[in-house]
Amino acid sequence: FIIPEFQDFCKELEDIYWKCKENTNGKVASYIPQLKRMNPNYWGVSVCTIDGQRFSIGDVGIPFTIQSCSKPLTYGIALDLLGEEMVHKYVGQEPSGRNFNELVLDHNKKPHNPMINAGAILVCALLKTVAGPEMTLAEKFDYTLNYFVRLAGGEDLGFNNAVFLSEREAADRNYALGFYMREHKCFPEKTNFKECMDFYFQCCSLEMSSDTLSVMGATLANGGICPLTEEKVLKSESVRDVLSLMHSCGMYDYSGQFAFKVGLPAKSGVSGALLVVIPNVMGISLWSPPLDPLGNSCRGVQFCEELVKKFNFHRYDNL
Ligand code: GLN
Repeated sequence: FIIPEFQDFCKELEDIYWKCKENTNGKVASYIPQLKRMNPNYWGVSVCTIDGQRFSIGDVGIPFTIQSCSKPLTYGIALDLLGEEMVHKYVGQEPSGRNFNELVLDHNKKPHNPMINAGAILVCALLKTVAGPEMTLAEKFDYTLNYFVRLAGGEDLGFNNAVFLSEREAADRNYALGFYMREHKCFPEKTNFKECMDFYFQCCSLEMSSDTLSVMGATLANGGICPLTEEKVLKSESVRDVLSLMHSCGMYDYSGQFAFKVGLPAKSGVSGALLVVIPNVMGISLWSPPLDPLGNSCRGVQFCEELVKKFNFHRYDNL
């Protein structure tokens, strides 16, 4: 086993879980009613190792929308289908140093990276327009969902239509980003703007439990092979690129500090989800709705910081 004393390890995780449970900082996202209604006490931690050992505690069976945690996954799928060179003709690899939805492009007039809204919208355009352009939006959604299901080892995935509809209603900024990119000719030729935006909102509205999200993390930790099914879902080169950008850009404008303190690739979402990858070891899903001012789950971030105090999981431990 990759973690030989798994029971002891889980006991430590439980202690950290209870410690973080006491943290009542942060505010639940309120820009759409479906998120605003979320119970701030929800707190779940799930682990799936690359050899399929699993542990979970707390609210790990309740579905939540993955929101921005979809960004590294759609990016990975785009890399797999189109290759790194094609994808990065359209989107950069640099932290923006700004908010995730800020109206800003890099000096080449490209979105800074695929982990912020502008970049993720563009990745959706690539998936829709360049990879299999003959597919309708419905077919493309099915096709992408199928990738997600395989990344999750066949576990249950849902789609929250109320969240999707609300996202689309409350999307002035995302449309502004889209129009700004269209003005600068960022999109691939023949992009259907409306469909591309819908596709982005749909990816944000995919719903799953913490347990399932941890399997996706484990597939990334395992170089693209799902530990539950042994299926190679993504190429290892794609996973390498995904993890690199999660490491430098995955935690909004806290990414630099997170890389320093925790030293692990991670991606957070506005639902309070946090997907953490320990390469060659495990995927971790953390979910708790209250967010800090930068938009990361308060309990989630605390958990990561406590975890690397106890274990040498930081990328530059053990040197
Ligand atoms: N649906 C959100 C948005 O596009 C996703 C962003 C996030 O999770 N930070 O604004």
